Amino acid sequence: MIRRTTWRPDTCGCVIEFEWDDSQPEDSRQTTPVRGISVCSLHQDLNTQEQYNALIEDNSRKNKVEQMLAELLPELTDTVQDVDKNPVKVLKKPLEHKYLPGRILEIKLPSEIQGKKVIENELHARLKESMKVVVV
Ligand SMILES: [Zn+2]
Repeated sequence: MIRRTTWRPDTCGCVIEFEWDDSQPEDSRQTTPVRGISVCSLHQDLNTQEQYNALIEDNSRKNKVEQMLAELLPELTDTVQDVDKNPVKVLKKPLEHKYLPGRILEIKLPSEIQGKKVIENELHARLKESMKVVVV
């Protein structure tokens, strides 16, 4: 059965509706954007498919960066168990983030964290796409 879901990513103000088929297995399920319900200023020049692709990319970059920061800055993390009971580090509290024009991710670290430029360079190296994330 075809189902529709409304997605409000936490990375910008966009709201988009997409379709998926619940008869497909979850790990290989295709999703198809149907319409942009609302479009933020960063994504206003995109058609619905491009908007959807951009939202996935922006959201996944933010998630990757948070995961990397959890590895780089153990003082910001707690260790919890994943579903297989393996220890994983997670951020104690979410970091402030926003996307700047050009879809550059800005992450705000707590003021006591030193060496933000070093951390930013490490993120660039790990992401292999420099200038797409800045640390403040
Ligand atoms: Zn947006």
